[in-house]
Amino acid sequence: MVHNRGKWFLHIGITKEVPDFEQQGNPQIVGIDRGLRFLATAFDSKGETLFFDGKKILHKRKKFLEIRRQLQSKGTTSAKRKLNQLAQRENRWMTDINHRIAKTLVVAYGSHTLFVLEDLTNVTFNTDDLPKALRNSHRSWSFFQLESFLTYKAQAIQSKVVKVDPAFTSQRCPKCGLVEKANRHHETHEYRCKQCQYRCNDDRLGAMNIEMLGQDWLSGVKHPKIKKLTTAG
Ligand SMILES: [Zn+2]
Repeated sequence: MVHNRGKWFLHIGITKEVPDFEQQGNPQIVGIDRGLRFLATAFDSKGETLFFDGKKILHKRKKFLEIRRQLQSKGTTSAKRKLNQLAQRENRWMTDINHRIAKTLVVAYGSHTLFVLEDLTNVTFNTDDLPKALRNSHRSWSFFQLESFLTYKAQAIQSKVVKVDPAFTSQRCPKCGLVEKANRHHETHEYRCKQCQYRCNDDRLGAMNIEMLGQDWLSGVKHPKIKKLTTAG
């Protein structure tokens, strides 16, 4: 039982027995790339892509930042209280968004789906799209929250989340396998393979490679990883 702002909250833990994900039986594989321009990009084994636009979110976060700055410059006790409330509101809002993305994903793909995410522990995010002041604050908690929401929502419907090595997922050509950093053009958000001329949106490309690593996992590779082959000449 918790008391907060004149209200009592009763927290009850529940456990529910659900059947496990079946690795056999040809489950659907969905690679999910997490980012800022798109909060999530999902690519499935049928070749379909789902984009979760992040622009509005980014816009609202900039607004939050503006108010925060104004309050910080005041420095009064009441400004500090308001800052605290603002932080809580922003967290609740972001939490709600992550809940909704996770829910949309499990509803869209249903049971017997293998959701594949990058293991972002120890990863520094590419935050080029963010204003400077937001770069550090973003670092991660929101990405990890989405991961945990998706993990328990997937489990409840006999689906599963696996994590794979994030190395080179934005550099590998899904058609010819060439791993090349220069194929990615940040300004145009495009991937262009200089070996086979394959072209693709760079967020979608990440999701495609993550999906491929999911296929490896399903075929028995314990820690799927893209290897950068060094070619002579
Ligand atoms: Zn290629």
